[in-house]
Parts: sequence; structure tokens; C-alpha cells
Amino acid sequence: MTDTLFAKIIRREIPATIVYEDDDVLGFKDIAPQAPVHVLFVPKNEAIPTLDDLKPEQAPLAGKLMLAAAEYARREGFAQDGYRVVMNCREHAGQTVFHIHLHLLAGAPLGRFGTPG
Ligand code: AMP
Repeated sequence: MTDTLFAKIIRREIPATIVYEDDDVLGFKDIAPQAPVHVLFVPKNEAIPTLDDLKPEQAPLAGKLMLAAAEYARREGFAQDGYRVVMNCREHAGQTVFHIHLHLLAGAPLGRFGTPG
């Protein structure tokens, strides 16, 4: 697996606050939270740098990231209040770690998004 920061977290070589795990997905708290709840969901067994690198046969993995986030939201009791999931792809979205990951943001009303700047 490509040696990204998140690969090291998956291998437990650097610490993270892990809050979700199943066979395919690891969820851990973002180190610089942008909302009261900010969790990153990453594929454990496949190193895919960006969403643009995702192949059609890997579509189930993208769904598993979504389902993991939704399950975590239900488990933690904020699914009804609502939440946002985001995946940044490359420079203009501000991607900094090149191991695909889904951001889950929740815990308060969230501002709008997508404006340049
Ligand atoms: P992105 O900008 O979409 O690539 O997201 C990368 C995220 O990883 C950012 O929100 C960072 O705050 C977060 N991050 C960086 N280093 C760590 C770390 N050691 N543990 C947890 N989250 C991290």
C-alpha cells in the first residue's frame, strides 16, 4: 500500500482516535476539526490516491465509505439532525492526503459551501 499518512494510521504506526472500523473501512477523528464532529472514513485495504483514480469495479468501496459514515451518524445519534459528507479531489478542492477519504461533518448547523476562495 502506498505510504501515505493515512496508510500509517491504518497500520497503527501513528496514533489516531479511531471511532469506526469494519472489514473495509476505518473511521478516525480529523486532527483539525472543521465542525463539532469531524470524522474521516478511509478504505483500509486499497490505496486510491483521489476520486479521479477510482475505477468502476471499485464503486462498491465508495458506497462502503458512505454507508460507514451513515452508520456512524445513526450510532452517535445525530443522523436525524443531519450531517454533511465531502470528498476533496486534488488541488482546487484542497486535497492534502492522497488516500481517498470521506469527511463527515456534523454537530451543528453547517454553513453553505462551494464558493470560490
Ligand atoms: P483533505 O484536505 O481532504 O485531503 O483532508 C485531509 C484531512 O486530514 C484534513 O482535514 C486534516 O486535518 C486531516 N489530518 C491530517 N493529519 C491527520 C492526522 N494525523 N490525524 C487525523 N487527521 C489528520
